[in-house]
Amino acid sequence: MRETIPDHLALHGYRGTVVAVRHLRDLQEEIQDRYGRGLLHEDVYNRYLAQFEYQTPESITNARSLIVVAYADPPVRLTFSRKGKTALLNVPPTYLHAEAKDAEVERRLTELLAQEGYRVARALAPKKLLAARSGLARYGKNNIAYVEGLGSYHRLAVFCSDCPCEAEQWIEAGMLERCERCHACQRACPSGAIGSDRFLLRAERCLTFWNEMPKGIAFPDWVEDSWHNCLVGCLHCQRICPENGMLKDWYEEGAEFSDRETELILAGADPSTLPASLTEKLERWDLLELYDLLPRNLLACLENNAR
Ligand code: SF4
Ligand code: SF4
Repeated sequence: MRETIPDHLALHGYRGTVVAVRHLRDLQEEIQDRYGRGLLHEDVYNRYLAQFEYQTPESITNARSLIVVAYADPPVRLTFSRKGKTALLNVPPTYLHAEAKDAEVERRLTELLAQEGYRVARALAPKKLLAARSGLARYGKNNIAYVEGLGSYHRLAVFCSDCPCEAEQWIEAGMLERCERCHACQRACPSGAIGSDRFLLRAERCLTFWNEMPKGIAFPDWVEDSWHNCLVGCLHCQRICPENGMLKDWYEEGAEFSDRETELILAGADPSTLPASLTEKLERWDLLELYDLLPRNLLACLENNAR
């Protein structure tokens, strides 16, 4: 190939790296080892880690490489009006328009690799671990992946290809150097999910784990009202992180919801009964996927905002 994959990705504003496909097995072993040693809460494993696939996609016969890509993805700020008050609520990186954004990266890669007769397909591998082991990212103490120049405001996507992997790094997953002398995220985390006795996040304590729960599951009693800060997910430990530097106040301005629209969302009205303008707004901001979670999470945030 005249142009390397990372160089081609960089031309389009992405960061990427390539490793040999055999490392799928290493990723699997590493996840299973953590699970086997009881370091991963059963519910966390089942929700986030059990769905990974370590086989190569069927469409790629003779798979030879894994390509992991990071692209900028700021939080989206949404505005909700209720009873004369306005609440600005964020949706952190990775949630919104993920499918369309990943499809765009796939299109770029397909375009490049097809020139040499190679194919590419998405892979359901553990993205963060792969990014860390390939040298694309480093972990923060909050267990979030940080990519140079993008901080934690990015999304990762993984692909498999039959193109050869000519040079690769496969390193121990490392923590940011800055984390050795910084405790900002630990102090900012309201739930104690970032412990000082171990590196792995206690994900079952993380607010994200609870506000991503399906509808009908209430927050446990130990989750305090004042902790809620995002419509889904949580940004406390990313906003405070010096590694995000100039990016930490970066956000994309999202939709505004009127009093009436806010009330309809809070009521959990069936999406098919919503006014067309509201459905269109939810669709445009890719919020229909999250719609079931919104009444519980929005109410928690608005009540916190109103205090
Ligand atoms: S806040 Fe500090 S300790 Fe936490 S991830 Fe950022 S640099 Fe590391
Ligand atoms: S996302 Fe929120 S709850 Fe989870 S570790 Fe970070 S600050 Fe703590």
